[in-house]
Amino acid sequence: MQDNTNTKILGLIGGMSWESSAEYYRLLNEGAKARLGGHHNARSLMLTVDFDEIEGLQHVGDWDSLAAKMAASARQLEAGGAGCVLLCTNTMHLVWPAIAGAITIPGLHIADPTGHAIRARGFERVALLGTRFTMEQDFYRGRLESQFGLKVSVPDAADREIVHRIIYDELCHGVIKPASRAELQRIIQIQRDLGAQCVILGCTEIMLLIRQPDSVLPVFDTTHLHVEAALDWALTA
Ligand code: GLU
Repeated sequence: MQDNTNTKILGLIGGMSWESSAEYYRLLNEGAKARLGGHHNARSLMLTVDFDEIEGLQHVGDWDSLAAKMAASARQLEAGGAGCVLLCTNTMHLVWPAIAGAITIPGLHIADPTGHAIRARGFERVALLGTRFTMEQDFYRGRLESQFGLKVSVPDAADREIVHRIIYDELCHGVIKPASRAELQRIIQIQRDLGAQCVILGCTEIMLLIRQPDSVLPVFDTTHLHVEAALDWALTA
């Protein structure tokens, strides 16, 4: 039997929303078992924040308070024994510098395994779906463009509003509607017609609604890619 006692502990900032954090937990442990066999788990700590408070601060634009809360959560995970920190949401990477600056352990940015996976497949023109914050601000697109040389496109304003609403009003409440899946399929189709070669599911809940068979474009799901990067970190010496 493999001695797993010294495996590094993953620190997860979760709850944004817990619907996707539950997927992280499931995928991490399924992945550890797939890689190690037996009854192996991924050793982890998850600190769940109260999403009602977070979502309220996002929508009034109080990113300073959000940065302070994320930094405090990361510090708590480090103090609890975590060896690295994952932020289980794309949107909150808007305050990533505050998180990375608050800890002495490494942080695994969600855009990085996504950028690597897209480059590995040879794609350059990518469509990005996520919250309005992720689609409209530079923290995410800018990283993909400057560090991975990708050309990132997003839906028009009306469709960005639709994606944002589906995320907050439905997926973050665990509500899965076929009509909303059809809306995202329509939006992905438009992106393909405009020249995108693949689509990033740049919100950790979108994978609850859209899987590869639902999409005319190759799908890069940030939840799965982030989990694989976490397992690479946790399960290698
Ligand atoms: N989980 C989502 C994301 O990946 C949105 C929820 C949030 O605002 O954090 O962006």
